[in-house]
Amino acid sequence: MGKELQLGEQSTQRGLTVKDSVTEHMELTPEILLKAILEGTGAGTWEWNLDTQEVIYNERWAQLLGYSLAELEPVSFQTWESLCHPSDLQEARNALASYLGGGSQKFECVIRMLHRDGDWRWIHTRGTLLTSQDDSGTRWLMGTHLDVTREKMSEHQLEQLSKSLPGIIYTFVLEPDGRYYFSYVSEKTWDFYGARAEECLDDPDNIFSLIHPEDLPRVHESIARSAETLEEWVCEYRVRARGTCYWLKGVSRPEKEPDGRIIWHGMTINIDIQKNLELELEQLSITDELTGLYNRRYMLRKLQESVAEGERYGATFSLISLDVDFFKAINDSYGHPTGDAVLIRFADIIASRTRKSDTVARTGGEEFIILMPKTGLAEAEQVAESLRLALQSERFVSDEGETFTVTFSAGVVNWSAEEQTLAVRDLLSACDQALYAAKRSGRNRIVANGNDD
Ligand code: GH3
Ligand code: MG
Ligand code: MG
Repeated sequence: MGKELQLGEQSTQRGLTVKDSVTEHMELTPEILLKAILEGTGAGTWEWNLDTQEVIYNERWAQLLGYSLAELEPVSFQTWESLCHPSDLQEARNALASYLGGGSQKFECVIRMLHRDGDWRWIHTRGTLLTSQDDSGTRWLMGTHLDVTREKMSEHQLEQLSKSLPGIIYTFVLEPDGRYYFSYVSEKTWDFYGARAEECLDDPDNIFSLIHPEDLPRVHESIARSAETLEEWVCEYRVRARGTCYWLKGVSRPEKEPDGRIIWHGMTINIDIQKNLELELEQLSITDELTGLYNRRYMLRKLQESVAEGERYGATFSLISLDVDFFKAINDSYGHPTGDAVLIRFADIIASRTRKSDTVARTGGEEFIILMPKTGLAEAEQVAESLRLALQSERFVSDEGETFTVTFSAGVVNWSAEEQTLAVRDLLSACDQALYAAKRSGRNRIVANGNDD
């Protein structure tokens, strides 16, 4: 032990101090250098004479397992064997046989050995066969022992963790030239994508190609944004695999390496049930239950968006506000269910006579609003007029078999960035005023408010 330490000190000295102080004390033979290097690695060494069965271990070899070499004397091949984990012994023997038989290029295995304090330590064992050049031709197998318990434990922990986590854990790398790949993915890729981890490591497009085409651009954009800002990547996207389509969510933290690579460590989880519920709730929250049209909440949101878009791109849009005439009387005369049927029929008439790009909402009891993008006042008025004619020619039948007709009054306004930049509230109030004007002037008519175009 004392001798080994001395070597270590001298080798350190050699690196740090002037040459003279070293050469004065000892000559740096290749053997001394080798020992110094080995000491630096913390490796134990072993030498095994295959002909005489003589075995030599260094002090460090014994220390790895908590002993001094003296305590293990007399040492032999059995010293190693008796400290080996019985389940790993065969693996080590196989590795050795394969090496000696020429089946493998190197002798290498990782096995458990018993430490003095009762723990099993993972020992990385490597060895090389040397045959002496003299006449004897003695064959020495010599090699090293390195304690890799910590690495092995981390590996084991990661493996266990990846099995128990509800998602895939992964490391994703983006090279400065735009190439990307996974440097690690856990086995759960099979459950999520029906692809083996190795396939995903080989080619990341084995995963990317499964992402729904409508979501793929968003996934790429969000990765690019995260790479630029180095902010956490969070993305929800659909995947088509295993014969079905479902929602996944990826979350990962980017790190920028000095060489420009960006590395994300993260997890992907399945959010299909929650996401579908969320979408269903979202749909419910913007839908009018009776007619299936959008509701007031959604109309207000769309209006905000339209104004923002109009201010940004200079686009125009029109708004029609419709209110059924004397609806209270319809309810009173024919009953509430018949009133409901009128509203449903009227909603159908509006929906069938407007464009897909228009937004139609039932904003109150018998009040509806139509938002028409890229539409001038005159065109909107025409649509309102065609609806008026359509409704008034519709024949309704009550539960009691009485036939009646229904009319509505409407106000029409136009929003355009050049002429007016009304806020949503003012726009709605202008539309209401036009509607009231139509009511006041006799109902079953359209009043347009604003400059005609
Ligand atoms: P006006 O021509 O001035 O618009 O008269 P109106 O009777 O249509 O207006 P009013 O605001 O006095 O009455 C609206 C009626 O609509 C009152 C309300 O009971 C009825 N109503 C509101 N929501 C519903 C509904 O969901 N179903 C039915 N059947 N009636 C409803
Ligand atoms: Mg009303
Ligand atoms: Mg009314």
